[in-house]
Amino acid sequence: MNKENWNSVAIDCGNSSIRVVVGEYDGEKLRTTLVRQMGHKEIQINGCWFWDILAIFNCIKEGLREAYARVGHIHSAGISTWGIDYGLLGEGELLLANPLCHRNSFGEEGLSALTAEERRELFDQTGIHCDKINTVFQILGYRRRFPVFWRNAKALLLIPDLLNYFLTGEKNTDTSIVSTSQLFDVTAGNYAAGIFKRFDIDPDLLPPLCPHGKVRGTLRPELVAELGINSFPVVSVPGHDTAAAVAAIPTDSGEKPLFISSGTWSLIGVELPKPMVNAKVFQLGLTNEAGALGTTTLLKNSVGLFIAQRLRQEFGGVSEEYSPGGKTAIEDWNSIVAGIKSVGRPTGIIDPNDPVFFNPPSMREAISTYLRRSGQRQPAREIDYFRVVYDSLALSYRAVVESLTDLGIATGDLHIIGGGCQNHLLNQITADLTGRRVVVGPVEATSLGVLAMELLHPGIASDLAAVRKVAATAGTREVYESRGRWDNPVIPEAGG
Ligand code: ADP
Repeated sequence: MNKENWNSVAIDCGNSSIRVVVGEYDGEKLRTTLVRQMGHKEIQINGCWFWDILAIFNCIKEGLREAYARVGHIHSAGISTWGIDYGLLGEGELLLANPLCHRNSFGEEGLSALTAEERRELFDQTGIHCDKINTVFQILGYRRRFPVFWRNAKALLLIPDLLNYFLTGEKNTDTSIVSTSQLFDVTAGNYAAGIFKRFDIDPDLLPPLCPHGKVRGTLRPELVAELGINSFPVVSVPGHDTAAAVAAIPTDSGEKPLFISSGTWSLIGVELPKPMVNAKVFQLGLTNEAGALGTTTLLKNSVGLFIAQRLRQEFGGVSEEYSPGGKTAIEDWNSIVAGIKSVGRPTGIIDPNDPVFFNPPSMREAISTYLRRSGQRQPAREIDYFRVVYDSLALSYRAVVESLTDLGIATGDLHIIGGGCQNHLLNQITADLTGRRVVVGPVEATSLGVLAMELLHPGIASDLAAVRKVAATAGTREVYESRGRWDNPVIPEAGG
């Protein structure tokens, strides 16, 4: 590894917050500073859910300004976001509308027409599990409802690709983000021509691939002038935040990390050198997403802390039961976790992946109804709803870890990364239930993965092991031993 100074910027867009992080690598250590953070969420207008892409881009611009103020010269930037959602550019490269959020029903409309055999065929052609949120199914529902917009689209850009286009004017993508679309064959490492043909989607709408470590584009001159910062390249890093985060897992050499990337979604999986496309993987509902530098992340895309996020929004920051003096306790995740005193037997269990929790008008109601229908007792206080959610998530994680174990590929420690790994209660329950030693951190795995992957461009890092080594100089980790306290709880079905 070369000894060189490099100031990189990570643009890390999750479903619940946008972060701009600056990294200063001095040849030995990566020092990181969060220079801008903005909470955000999907916004409903007239029954349709959108992302506020302009507010996101504005936050990125402000973040770049602040990054420059901190380091004096930015050498490169990289962008990583949630997967599957996209924006359309029309005539004159104009953004046709605010990008839609995958929590609309369009994807379900697209997917429901497929038989089990057809789903298997699509899995074989792409390596990706058919899921209603995948871009291809969102497109099918969208173009039926909004044919005029669809007909006028000249380019379809997934969220990191759209943000890269805003920043540089270049249209390209990377394997990790495009694999989430299910328009891509992860085994061949190329667009899946058969899928475009089958669904009559113009392949020219999608941009070409840019390999990791190469330059995706250079900051537009007008942005250089507007922001008063230096020009720099945007480097191709894993555009999908899961892939970037996995690249920052501190593993011992040779270990293929078993992980839970814990945020709004929880991605539970294992890094592999190549995809696993077979009947068993299909049956288990696992998906082969493209990871960093040609790796595969075989994972289950599972509901994560979204349910807790919605509860917190719904309870509106007021929870007198455990915050007698103020109205802020439930706005703060630390207080919520601290409010749940004991980690013993569960009080109630739901299946977090049940469709009733996908986007209900009231999360509290959805949980209550599920518990009632499955003959369980109701949570007494607001805080008890969170306890139900955390126990249930850990139990759902265990099921996936067991699937991966059955495939003979889940060995070693379980790494939990991302914002959700700050929840020490959930970490401990997960360790207890899976019977695994849980290694927690880094919290900012996506940002660290992006910053370290950018070092491929100047040749400071040459491979994934080197990227991980750099990321490990900045992240912290903590270990939870399994106490094996639970005696086999199962997820009860909610019935009719
Ligand atoms: P995303 O990338 O999807 O926006 P993050 O990785 O930022 O998500 O994780 C956000 C989640 O992390 C929140 O929904 C919350 O449940 C959890 N979280 C954040 N901070 C804490 C904390 N201090 N204690 C416990 N949980 C936390």
